Amino acid sequence: MKAGVVTTGQKDSSRLVEMDMGPVSGGQALIKLLEVGIDGTDMEINTGQYGQAPPDDDFLVLGHEAIGQIENPGTTEFDKGDLVVPLVRRPDECINCRCGQSDMCIEGNYRECGIKGAHGFLREYLAEDSSFLVGVPKELQHVAVLTEPMSIVTKGIEQAIEFHARSANPIQVALVLGAGPLGLLATAFLRVQGINTYNLDIVPRNSMKGQLVEAVGATYLDGRESHIQDLPRQIGNLDVIIEATGNSTVAFQAMSVLGVSGVLCLMGVSTGEKPLEICADCLNMEMVLGNKVVFGTVSSNQGHFERAMQLLRDIDQRWPDWLARLITRRLPLGDFKDGLQPAPNGIKTVIEIA
Ligand code: BGC
Ligand code: ZN
Repeated sequence: MKAGVVTTGQKDSSRLVEMDMGPVSGGQALIKLLEVGIDGTDMEINTGQYGQAPPDDDFLVLGHEAIGQIENPGTTEFDKGDLVVPLVRRPDECINCRCGQSDMCIEGNYRECGIKGAHGFLREYLAEDSSFLVGVPKELQHVAVLTEPMSIVTKGIEQAIEFHARSANPIQVALVLGAGPLGLLATAFLRVQGINTYNLDIVPRNSMKGQLVEAVGATYLDGRESHIQDLPRQIGNLDVIIEATGNSTVAFQAMSVLGVSGVLCLMGVSTGEKPLEICADCLNMEMVLGNKVVFGTVSSNQGHFERAMQLLRDIDQRWPDWLARLITRRLPLGDFKDGLQPAPNGIKTVIEIA
C-alpha cells in the first residue's frame, strides 16, 4: 500500500512510499482510509522539530486526523462499510491510561499514531483494535475528518467550563486567540453554548477566517488594530480565554488580561525556546487576587471523540456548510507533500486517500 512518511528529526523528509500492509491480528478490524487532515503538528514533524518513529522503524507514517471505512470488521463491534474515526493515543500502564484516560497519561510512555512511536493514518489501510475506533453516523461523513481536532477543543472547553463553575457567576464573555482550525472550532463550540464570543487573529476582518468567525455569531477582532491589553476595557471581564495560536508570548499576554474568576486554557504546542521578560510579581498577584485558573490541555480520549462528533452534528445543523468551509484545500495522497506547506489564506488541508 502507499503511505506518506517522514524521517523524524530530518527537515523536509516527507515522501510517498510503498509499504507492507502487515498482518491483521485476531480482534482487529481492517480499515480502508478515506481522508486524513493535516495540522500544525504534521508540519512541525516535517520540519524535524517534533515526532518520533516507532522503535523498529526509521520512518514515521504521518497523519492523526482520519476517517475510514470498515473493510473487514474482525469483531462484532462493526459491520463492513461502517465509517470510523481512529483515536490517536495508545495507552501505557499508568493509572490514568488504565482508566481510559490516556490523554491524561502521567508516565509519558503513551504512543501517538502519526506523532510519537506509532505509525499514523496517512496510508491506504489500517489494522486496528475496535477499542481504538469510534463509529461515525453516515450523515456526518462529509465533516468527520474534523472529529480529532474537535475532540481536542471539546476536552479543553469542557474543562474550562468545569473549572469556571467553582464560582457562581456565569461565563458571559469568552475570547479565543487564533482563527486556525482549533480556534475556529472553539469559537463555534462556545457559540453553540450561547456564550458571547470574540476571536482575535491577525488577518483582515473580510478574510475567510474573519468571515467564518462572524458566521457563527461571534465577533472578529483584528489583532493588528485591537491590542490584547485593551480588550478587558473594550469587551468586559474575560471569563474564559482559549489560547489556540501556540505562540507563547500570546499565552502570557492572555494571562495578564484574564478576568476575575477567569479560566485560561492553553492548547497550542510551542516547540521553540523563545524567552520573554514579564512582571512576575504583577502576574502572580493578579492570579491570586483574581482567583484565576490557567491550565494546559493535550490530546483527548474516547469520550471527547464521541462528544466532538455530537458537536459537529450540532454545528452542521445550525450553520449548514460552515464546517465544510473550514476545509480549504483537498489533495490526493500522491500530493500530500504540498499539504505540509501552509496555504496562503488556507485553513485546513485534507488528503483524499480513497
Ligand atoms: C494532536 C494531539 C496530540 C498533540 C501532541 C496534536 O496535534 O491533535 O492528539 O496529543 O498534537 O502530540
Ligand atoms: Zn499513561
